[in-house]
Amino acid sequence: MTKTIIEPFRIKSVEPIKMTTKAEREALLKAANYNLFTLKSEDVIIDLLTDSGTSAMSAAQWAGMQVGDESYAGSPSYFRFENAVKELMPFEFVMPTHQGRAAERILFEVISKPGQFIPNNTHFDTTRANIEAGGAAAVDLVIEEGKNPALDHPFKGNMDLKKLESLIAEKGAEHIPLCMITITNNSGGGQPVSLENIRGVSAICKKHGIPFFIDACRFAENAWFIKQREPGQQNRPVKDIVREIFSLADGCTMSAKKDALVNMGGWLAMNDPVLEEKCRNVLILTEGFPTYGGLSGRDLEAIAQGLREVVDEDYLNYRIASTTYVGNKLTEAGVPIMRPVGGHAIYIDARAFLPHIPPEQYPGQLGLRPYTEGGIRGCEIGTVMFGLAPDGTEKIAPMDLVRLAIPRRVYTESHMLYVVESVLEVFKNRDKISGMKIEWQPSALRHFTAKFSPKNAANDVNLDNGPAAVRG
Ligand SMILES: *Cc1c(COP(=O)(O)O)cnc(C)c1O
Repeated sequence: MTKTIIEPFRIKSVEPIKMTTKAEREALLKAANYNLFTLKSEDVIIDLLTDSGTSAMSAAQWAGMQVGDESYAGSPSYFRFENAVKELMPFEFVMPTHQGRAAERILFEVISKPGQFIPNNTHFDTTRANIEAGGAAAVDLVIEEGKNPALDHPFKGNMDLKKLESLIAEKGAEHIPLCMITITNNSGGGQPVSLENIRGVSAICKKHGIPFFIDACRFAENAWFIKQREPGQQNRPVKDIVREIFSLADGCTMSAKKDALVNMGGWLAMNDPVLEEKCRNVLILTEGFPTYGGLSGRDLEAIAQGLREVVDEDYLNYRIASTTYVGNKLTEAGVPIMRPVGGHAIYIDARAFLPHIPPEQYPGQLGLRPYTEGGIRGCEIGTVMFGLAPDGTEKIAPMDLVRLAIPRRVYTESHMLYVVESVLEVFKNRDKISGMKIEWQPSALRHFTAKFSPKNAANDVNLDNGPAAVRG
């Protein structure tokens, strides 16, 4: 008999959710100019805006915070943090930073120059921005399968090794100061990278003398997928797989807000002492002394404990099962989502969900509907987020997606079922949904503050049509 995969924890401390009615949410959304970023989080019932920094900490992590030592230099909390990192990621040097992008900024400031190229499977936005800020080019080399949302493939985050070889042949290894791979591939749908692919990238980098770094944010989720899907890996402890992954690399950047199960933090790790010295000097200048970096001693304790908990296989089984559960329920009902379901989020294909709404009318604003329906907040990843060119013109994004990111250890299966029910209710009434228009926008990063209105309010049953109070 297959039994339900249960949450492998009991709840000792609870945080109440403020419940709202549909009518209240319609009014709140209108007051927020139909922008989910403008809402107050207490007006959200299930917040799936991001999995970053939203994890619930364990009793052991909170206990660790009590023994955090805040000494400026040489704190025992630093050494516990360093040991916990090295237990999984056997690098010579580890520098704490206040979050992942600080590690990226230090690394790229030191290692890259204008005119150079940094390949990755898909660069995350902050990684790309930090590389471009220094004048180098960020190149995405994910396999072709990774760009097709409907296609099933076990490792859609893999890098195309042929494209990597061609880039090196074309530009010359001397113009490629670093090669990265992001596990799991966040900007490519949270899709995993296979161990075989990481071995392949590592071998190519070694052959050409190019340092190979891992963007490690969701390393444990990636290792779990390797254990589940990669031939020959089924009987290996996840911790072993993790150690092999990092032993193939020369360093990593990490956002502890993901797979270290804490709310803030990150690190930069590497083996090369010459690079380390340069990075350490920037760290001291911009983050802090090397044994605390951008963090308090108590934060270092919480990370050390989080790293022990995140490779627990019962935790990972539950974690990936809850994402898959939502994805499979939506697929069974015919809702178009990116397949297969990734590690930390479900991506609804809003263009396929709303074929009657042209991309100029922002189908990705579909994300407003689960909010009015059930108080669920997701995030548009599409033309609103990427479509405003620096010259002020509009460029249609390759896809319009709504991301439902699942925070770690925060919600239960009944919360997830409620999410499914709400999305299915929206799906049932999808032909009545109208497009949106932008009433006001800033000159950059418009998704955070733009103001919207419904394109055709009169035809819309979910927003602005008739007395909301009657519908409840
Ligand atoms: C979140 C994230 C980062 C940046 O980390 P922050 O802690 O948000 O600065 C970098 N890369 C990937 C893949 C991420 O998911």
